[in-house]
Amino acid sequence: MKYCSTRGGVKGVSFSEVLLSNYAPDGGLYVPENLPRIGRETLRSWAALGYQELLQEIFSLFVSPEELTPQEMQSIFEGVFDGFDAPDVLPVVKVGPVHVAEAWHGPTGVFKDLTLHVLARLSNHFLEKRGQRATILVSTTGDTGGTAIRSVQGMKNLRAIVAYPRRTVSRVQELQMTTTGSENAVVFSHDGISDDLDLILRNIFQDGELRKRHTLLSFNSIHTVRVLLNAVHFVYVYLRVAPEADQSVLVSVPTGGVGNAAGGVMAAEMGVPIKILSAVNENDVVHRAFTLGDFSIARAQIPTHAPSLDSNLPHNIERVFYFALNGDAAALKRVMEDFEQTQKSVLPGKICDSFRHFLTASVNKEQCLETMKSVWREFGYAVCPHTAVAWKPAAEYATSTSQNGDVGIGGETGPPAERCKVVVVFSTASPAKFPETLSLVSVPVPPAAWVTELAGKKERKLLLDKGGDWEGILRETIASSQGFL
Ligand SMILES: *Cc1c(COP(=O)(O)O)cnc(C)c1O
Repeated sequence: MKYCSTRGGVKGVSFSEVLLSNYAPDGGLYVPENLPRIGRETLRSWAALGYQELLQEIFSLFVSPEELTPQEMQSIFEGVFDGFDAPDVLPVVKVGPVHVAEAWHGPTGVFKDLTLHVLARLSNHFLEKRGQRATILVSTTGDTGGTAIRSVQGMKNLRAIVAYPRRTVSRVQELQMTTTGSENAVVFSHDGISDDLDLILRNIFQDGELRKRHTLLSFNSIHTVRVLLNAVHFVYVYLRVAPEADQSVLVSVPTGGVGNAAGGVMAAEMGVPIKILSAVNENDVVHRAFTLGDFSIARAQIPTHAPSLDSNLPHNIERVFYFALNGDAAALKRVMEDFEQTQKSVLPGKICDSFRHFLTASVNKEQCLETMKSVWREFGYAVCPHTAVAWKPAAEYATSTSQNGDVGIGGETGPPAERCKVVVVFSTASPAKFPETLSLVSVPVPPAAWVTELAGKKERKLLLDKGGDWEGILRETIASSQGFL
């Protein structure tokens, strides 16, 4: 299995190369040169597998045995989900009109636990083999940071440098980053929004000299292997609700950087009968792009109750475009370069019109809170604000007889009779992670051991204040060996 850039500039790249890099050299993102196909028979034969077993089956389609033997893979993945508080890792439960995939039973209460721990182990394995150390540089809206720090804990070949926006993360998220006591983590609290940091990180990553000398890695949602790993949980969830692989299923995904949704699109492209409903909030680049053909960033990022969705630059949309364009790298390159130069691009009609397994919807702040409230009132079930954003259009899709539901789901052209009968809400975070928002809507906060444990621990963080030279400070930290074990 080899990888190529979405923009067509590079081909024939190995798995380990992709694992230990970020953007492709031509500015694009890596994708498999040929997506493996998963037939219905194969799907059915996987229905009884546990999460780790399924991960291994699917992963062996993405990496050749010359690069990673089945034995190596087995030992890397062994016990990686032991810290989860659900024996089946990713339980799917029926609540009212939808199924809910509770993807947050990992040690930091967020679906990123399903991928980052695997990613860290894989990275450490290949670094050890090469005799290298690497730095994971993360700009987080809140969730990736804590999970990334936790995922590399104790690893000799990796350190994490994480920066988070102090004004918009929840207190639990902040404590998850600042109280780990991890020696191989350097944590910065900054005064801006996450997109500010994303731009700085993009500069740093584009400094090839620095990137090579210090082996900089990104665990952010553009990471190719993270997207591959995201594809795995869509297959797993599909098989929970359709073990016979005989029907198509809609999965509604709260969308920020589009890494998770891109994994879902990849699973669909591989032949799994799913449709992805990508649900955004007021930061609606994805929804505008696919409903109006208007791919442009908004004047400002809008802070909401679902901070992990507050992205004005959803980088993985490039991967979705790539699949929507059937891998037409030249057309994609035009769109992306136009966008990079003018922050605005008009999409070729075929992106919007012919991409049938990708729907979008946008849910505003009031609707998000109202949904949290009504799901609690009607079903006695607490959802986090991100999950609520995916819930609203999913429930409307499942119950409404009108064409597109009240929120105006974009991309669905068939009559209601042709719709997916099974609807899944992909629940990305534990409600216990967002006590402030739950109390706003009078939903009791479910107890979670890992939240109580955070209280009273010593915090450790460095500050990036307004007007400071943030890029300079980050570059200095990268050049130092601060944080390596
Ligand atoms: C990261 C995150 C998302 C968004 O995932 P993307 O892959 O960036 O689209 C949604 N919800 C929660 C709780 C998250 O932490």
